[in-house]
Amino acid sequence: MQLSTTAAFVASAAAHAQRVAVRTEDGRDFTYAELDALRRQAARALMAAGVAHGDRVAIWAPNSLEWIIAGLAIHSVGAALVPINTRMRGAEAAYILDKSRARLCFCAGRFLDQHYPSLLGAQRPAGLQQLVVLHGAEAGDLRWEDFLQEAEAVSEAALSERSARLRGEDVLDILFTSGTTGQPKGVVSTHAQNLRVIAQWSRCVQLRADDRYLVVNPFFHSFGYKVGWLAGLLAGLTVLPQAVFDARVILRRIAAEKISVLPGPPTLFISLLDDPERASTDLSSLRATITGAAAIAPSLIERIRAELGFQLVLTGYGLTETCGVVSLCEAGDDAETIALTSGKALPGIELRCVDASNRALGPGESGEIVVRGYNLMQGYLDDPQATRETIDAEGWLHTGDIGHLDARGYLRITDRLKDLYISGGFNCYPAEIERMLAAHPAIAQSAVIGIPDERLGEVGKAYVVLRAGQALDEKTLIAWCREQMANYKVPRRIEFVPSLPCNASGKVMKFALRAPPQ
Ligand code: AMP
Repeated sequence: MQLSTTAAFVASAAAHAQRVAVRTEDGRDFTYAELDALRRQAARALMAAGVAHGDRVAIWAPNSLEWIIAGLAIHSVGAALVPINTRMRGAEAAYILDKSRARLCFCAGRFLDQHYPSLLGAQRPAGLQQLVVLHGAEAGDLRWEDFLQEAEAVSEAALSERSARLRGEDVLDILFTSGTTGQPKGVVSTHAQNLRVIAQWSRCVQLRADDRYLVVNPFFHSFGYKVGWLAGLLAGLTVLPQAVFDARVILRRIAAEKISVLPGPPTLFISLLDDPERASTDLSSLRATITGAAAIAPSLIERIRAELGFQLVLTGYGLTETCGVVSLCEAGDDAETIALTSGKALPGIELRCVDASNRALGPGESGEIVVRGYNLMQGYLDDPQATRETIDAEGWLHTGDIGHLDARGYLRITDRLKDLYISGGFNCYPAEIERMLAAHPAIAQSAVIGIPDERLGEVGKAYVVLRAGQALDEKTLIAWCREQMANYKVPRRIEFVPSLPCNASGKVMKFALRAPPQ
């Protein structure tokens, strides 16, 4: 029988019982034995709330100890964890709660303050039965501390019986990611496949029990969750959740907490390198990092090594649809390979580049990157058509990324086929932003593209055609966007145009918008 992540966590907690599992931002330490006790208490409270094997439970909150406890508890009762992006506005989160039919949601108090009508008021998702407030409490909602007290209604024996029914093939989580259709889709993956991916990732990064892992990557993304706190706890090390992405705060925490492992997107390292306090900060504890999730300049890899002092700097590539990881470099790879490639496929995973007719290409030949193996999602939630469009009949997942393999099988990503740009590590799907812009009464049509930005990699630019007789200015429209969508999706520049360049079938030709002015 294949193992569940819960069984793997229980084994790690038993092996490292007296070591510190989590150290909070306000300096509280929780040993593995204490964390395991909290996991069991929260799991019993979930059972008391009626959460059954196969139900879905969401978490919409910044990185924290409580997020980890809730996540472990959701896994332990056989429910699927549905993490929600903390940048989302109420209506975006409500859509995910609705689509996933989450029966319970752990939510940060301040999100509830801001988005009460979307979650509990008039637009409350139909299946949502309970909202538990993490971090800060509002009158009338169930606070985390009170939720934990509900555990008394369920025995330890009942929880053990529930956890004993867990199987490797049970759904572990459903992570939402947008696509070219413009609506977020739920990516379903299981305990066993995630465990295998995590094991490979941890091997490459050489995680060890005396590491101190600062998890800056958001817990709602594979990078902060699967190969973030979960990988850390399975390795028996100390996880330090970090809620805010602030270079100064992170630098000070590295020095004060003797952080040894700090993965992140390229923007994290650009911010750290640029901070004037960096030169006077003791970074000597830094041991290993892995970067990816967006295009990386080779010179940045060298600066991370030379100026931040990491002994091990690795690069990798992955997608939500592949449990977060496809390829990784290894510790023994030379500096040039690490700087120029995104590594080679994890053992047991097949990686190819194909042409438009799906023919496999040879070394050095560029085409769409396709992947096959145990890391592929089970499918998009309730969307067999989108699943078929992504995973072909032979089991290859079409990534929408373009690149080539070298003769050794190392991957070099060069471009993207799909309409996506990445801003500060966050994926922005123009189709989704255009759909939201279409809701503005003055807008007839829009097209969004990513444009280069020194700090964030890329930012959005919207070309907007107004309805006849309507007037709108850039500032007003940007302010409106901030109300409707997560901040990273808000276009930083708006250009009002009389029309958009379209092809014969009426599709906007984005390459014409991207072309530099003559
Ligand atoms: P996500 O589903 O949020 O993990 O985003 C996956 C997408 O991020 C991929 O399809 C790529 O477009 C992009 N991506 C991930 N890793 C890299 C990398 N090392 N270099 C360039 N793009 C990357």
